[in-house]
Order: sequence, then C-alpha cells, then structure tokens
Amino acid sequence: MYCIINGFVINRKNFSEYDKIATIYSLQLGKVKVFFKSVNKITSKFISFLEPATEVELQIVKLKNKNYDTTFKFAGGKVLNFNDKLRENFKIYEYTCRILDLVDALTFECGKDENKFFLIKRMFDFLDHNKNIEVVFLAFVFRFIKLCGYMPELNKCVKCKSSLNNKFYFYFDFIDKGIVCSECLKTLALSDLEKLKISLSAIELLKKFYKLNAEEIEKLKVDTEVIDEVSKFIFLYLQNYLHRPLRYEVNF
Ligand SMILES: [Zn+2]
Repeated sequence: MYCIINGFVINRKNFSEYDKIATIYSLQLGKVKVFFKSVNKITSKFISFLEPATEVELQIVKLKNKNYDTTFKFAGGKVLNFNDKLRENFKIYEYTCRILDLVDALTFECGKDENKFFLIKRMFDFLDHNKNIEVVFLAFVFRFIKLCGYMPELNKCVKCKSSLNNKFYFYFDFIDKGIVCSECLKTLALSDLEKLKISLSAIELLKKFYKLNAEEIEKLKVDTEVIDEVSKFIFLYLQNYLHRPLRYEVNF
C-alpha cells in the first residue's frame, strides 16, 4: 500500500553501509520511520532529502515485516523546502536541532496531529528571521507540551483552588502538575525534587505563551532572570513526559 506524506526530517541514522532510516514528522501520519535503501551510494540522488529540518513529500510503502526497525519504505518523492536558512547560522541551527530533538522525544510513532505539524512549520518560518529567538523558542516548547496534552495548572492553586493574587512567589508541585500557594505548601511534605519556587512574573509569561500568537510573542520584552526561570521550569517539567533523554537541553 502506497501513501504520500508531507513532513520534516527529524533525524536519520545509518542502518547498514548503504541504507539509512529517517524519522519524519508528517502531516498525514505524525511521526514515522522510513527505510531509505541504497541512499548512501554516491549515485543516489536522494541523500539531500535527509538533512535535518528539510521539508519533503515522500511516497512510502508499508512494510509487511519490521525487519528494518521501521514501518515504511521510501519509494520516491521530492524536496519541498531545503530550509537552508536554518543551517546557515550556528545559533539558528542549534535551535533547529533542539526543536527536532524535542519533537522526537515527546511524540510516538503514527500519532497523527496536524496541529503539531503546523506548529513546527510555523516555528521554522519564524526561526530564520527572529530576533527574540529564546522567548519564541520557549513559547514553542510550551505550546508543544500543551498539544501533547500535558498542560499544567497555572491559574489557581491545585490544592485549595484559590486564585493567585497578591503574592510574588509560588511553588510548582511536580506531583500534582500545578501551582501551590505558600499556605498549602506548609501542609505538604514535598521534597526539593518535587517542588520549584516560581515567581508571578514567570507564571504570567507562561500564560502568555498560550494566549499570544507568534508575532505578539516576538515583541515581548522579558527580563533575563524571568527567561532563565521559565527555561529552568520548562526543562524540569518536560522530564515527566519525555520517552528518552534530550540530546540538547532546553535551557542554555
Ligand atoms: Zn492553596
């Protein structure tokens, strides 16, 4: 059975001397692994398909057995966008690698999600000209976490349900996945690994990541300490949901 998919190359690895397996995040099927036979041969014209972040249209065929540790085999296709701009500058390429690594570590094969595909596509469009790159990247990570269904409670205390007013600092409870007020914290016996002090400014920024579009996020002026705090929080929060360790850490 043939099918045609549009997707981004997340990574690729050698399977044997001439063959490769590529992981693609596609619009039609979500994440898929595709076997590329003889792609390492000098005569193959398809090796350029497999640069990370390249947008491709592939004809793939489902394999009857999984001898290759993959479900599909490459049967033809074309490059839609080489995304060269994402590889020209070292800083942008580093962000590109972080995005691809994160998508791979947070998704499972054949879990179709068009919103995730379009979020990745939009992030790549933004990345090549973005000035506020760190904040836009953190917003991408947080939105991707939301699309995976792992949204934390940020609007009220997860214990007493009171709204978060008139205080500068709160705690995040990694067990109940939400903010706890200082009153409730006194009644809990959370270890340092289970809680993190978090400022109201950091909580407000996280909420903006959900509410604002990319153009608005690009224009936000955020203090370095708040960026560092949000970056640390997101990295720690992510650890609950990754199915393998990240190769690139979220915070710098
Ligand atoms: Zn409370």
